[in-house]
Formats: sequence, C-alpha cells, structure tokens
Amino acid sequence: MSIKIMAVNAGSSSLKFKLYQMPEETIICSGIADRIGHDDGIFKISFAGQTVKKILPLPNHAVGVKLLLESLIDYKILNSLNEIGGIGHRVVQGGKYFSDSAIFNDDTEAKITSLIPLAPLHNKAHLVGFHAFKDVLPDVPAVAVFDTAFHQTMEPQDFLFPIPYEYYEQYDIRRYGAHGTSHKYLGEEAAKLIPEVSHPRVISCHIGSGASITAIRDGKCVATSMGLTPLGGIMMGTRTGDLDPSVMMYACKCTGKDVYEMYDIFNKKSGLLGVSGISNDTRDIEEATEKGNIQADITNKLFARRVADFIGQYFVRLGGADIIVFSAGIGENSGFYREIICDQIGEALGVKINRELNLPLRGKTEIISTPDSKIKVAVIPTDEEIMIARDVVRLLKLN
Ligand code: AMP
Repeated sequence: MSIKIMAVNAGSSSLKFKLYQMPEETIICSGIADRIGHDDGIFKISFAGQTVKKILPLPNHAVGVKLLLESLIDYKILNSLNEIGGIGHRVVQGGKYFSDSAIFNDDTEAKITSLIPLAPLHNKAHLVGFHAFKDVLPDVPAVAVFDTAFHQTMEPQDFLFPIPYEYYEQYDIRRYGAHGTSHKYLGEEAAKLIPEVSHPRVISCHIGSGASITAIRDGKCVATSMGLTPLGGIMMGTRTGDLDPSVMMYACKCTGKDVYEMYDIFNKKSGLLGVSGISNDTRDIEEATEKGNIQADITNKLFARRVADFIGQYFVRLGGADIIVFSAGIGENSGFYREIICDQIGEALGVKINRELNLPLRGKTEIISTPDSKIKVAVIPTDEEIMIARDVVRLLKLN
C-alpha cells in the first residue's frame, strides 16, 4: 500500500517537516517554519523543484502547522489532507520508558510530559508540535520517535554514573544519550559500506551544533557520549560536554553566579563559542584560524582532542573498529575538522584519509580513507526524517 507520511521535528522556535510517499521513500515536500514566536517568522516549503519562502508573523507552532497544511492544498501538493496516513514526531527524551518508537496515546503523552525536566526545551516543543497537528488532523494517527530509544541497549556499566546507586534507582539519573535516530541510521548505512564484515563495529560521529559519538556493534548501541542530558560528552557549539563536576561549584564560587546561571552558561555560552570567543559556528572559527587567530586555533585543537578521545575510547570498547563515520553539520561539511580529528587518531589507530577526497563538500556518502587505512572512514549525510517515516509505517502497520 502506498501512503503519505509526515515526519515532524518541532524545536523550541522551529518546526521542520518532510512529507514522504512510502514505502517508495520519495520526498513529496519539505520545509520549515522558523523563528516561531517572532513577527518576522520564516516559512519555507520546497516541492516539485521549487521553493516558496514567506516572511510573516508566526506567533506559535499552531500557526506554523496551519500554514503548512494550507500550503499543501494551495500549492496542490495534496488534493486533500486525508491523504496523510500518519505523522511521526521526533522526541528527544524518551527516558527509561521507550526502547522503541511508540504510537501517540494518553500514556505516551503522559510519559513524554513526565520527562520534560530532562529535556525542558525539546520535549515541551515536541508536545506543542504534536498538539498543533492533532488539532487540525485529529483522526490521523501519530508516532513518537525517540532520540534516546536506540541507546537503550547499553549495559549498566555503560549507562551508569559513579554516584550513589539510589540516585539511579529513585531518580533515574543515568546516561540516556541523544541523536539515537541519526546514529541508528548511520550504523545501518555504514554497515552497507563494509559488506565483507559480518559483525560491523561502527564509531559514528554525529557532529553538528549538538554533537555525540556512538559505538555500535551489530547495529546496536553499546556506548554513547551524551549523558543524562544533551550537555554531556564531546565539546559542542555552545555546550561544554563532559567536565570535572567540581568546575560547576568552583566557577560559581569564583563568579558569584548560582548553579542555574552557570548551567545556562555551560549550555549556551561554552563549547566552541566559549573557548574561541568568536562564534559557535565552525565556519567562523575556520576563517579566524586562517587569519592567524590563536584562540581559534586552540579551540580547534581542543575540539579535535575531545572527539579523538571518544573515538579512542570506543575503539577499545568495541575491541577495534571497522568504520568511523562523520555526519551532521560539521561532520558532513567540514573537511578541515575531519582532517584535524583524523590527524589525532591516525598514529594510534592506523587511520589514514585521502586529503583530496576529504576536502570537497559533497552532500553524499563517500569513503574518505585510503585503501591502506586500518579503519575505513566515511562521510554519510544523516537522515533522521526517513527513519521517522519508516517507524510510522512499521508501528502503524501501514505496509
Ligand atoms: P547541525 O546542528 O547538524 O545543523 O550543524 C550546524 C553546524 O554545522 C554549524 O553551527 C556549523 O558549525 C557547522 N557547519 C555547517 N555547515 C558548515 C560548513 N559548510 N562548513 C563548516 N561547518 C559547517
């Protein structure tokens, strides 16, 4: 049966969407309602080789959804909204409750709501997005696809923190990970690049403004870098990643700020932005490096070191590695960052990349290691939306 599925990623101030024809997996249209909450909101929709962009007030998510659904009819993308057979919503935090995607019902919604403290901006926004669609399309079934679900296969020694055990038992304080849908996709796609390996060991590096690294064996997550919240793991655009926990207390003492203010700084003013003092965007930092900015250079080295340390850790955790994958904004686009990361792991792991293959921006899957590299290295553009659409079809038994 051929059916149309909407994949939705609602953030705090944006709502991205992609409409698929399934199971063919063809994209019918895609776009974004951005700057939600602003008078100069941006609505963009691409279909049949054209893109329409409007600047208009987008006071809330519901207005964005209404605009999207009206556009589907106005631009004759659909004849009727009844053609939409299912909607998949990305949900960042599924906590201990979800090791797979789940059909939206009262129980699913109550659990997502109860997890808001673990992902305050994200989970709240996902529910707002869910309701905005439900109000207009009350009879279309919806599925929640959790970023954390893929990481639920970790063993206790990989997900526990060395704090009093009752904090785990009573408060569920543990590592949940993030970007699971992306890592799952990257694990599957990476395995296709090494068909000769029967039990693939993949280290997937999802490195965008948020970033995480995952060790995948036989398609299952065994370890991942993000922690209780998306603040943990490697250094990110504005987030610290892992720190000595005493940094929090001592930085508060030195600055006179309280833990909430410092937590905000660790989330929004640290990482690439905090260290470079320039930007959270690697393009700006690369440019400053080229102009000889010393702080930008140190930022790059720290960033590469943090990523390399996790790759090394996961090489050990997996008992070796067959392929290392780079993906997301930095991983897909920046040959410079891929190179400085691979330089850090090259000697120990025997990783060699072809510098010519590495540099061009390609937007497609590409093996960038040399034939004599001990571990293959690949760039794979991630595709969380297709994973969402596939899960909607699977859970709603639409195939
Ligand atoms: P994401 O969160 O995956 O969308 O990644 C966004 C980040 O990717 C940006 O903040 C930049 O740091 C980085 N980025 C995106 N495009 C490029 C590019 N062409 N070159 C270098 N870095 C890029």
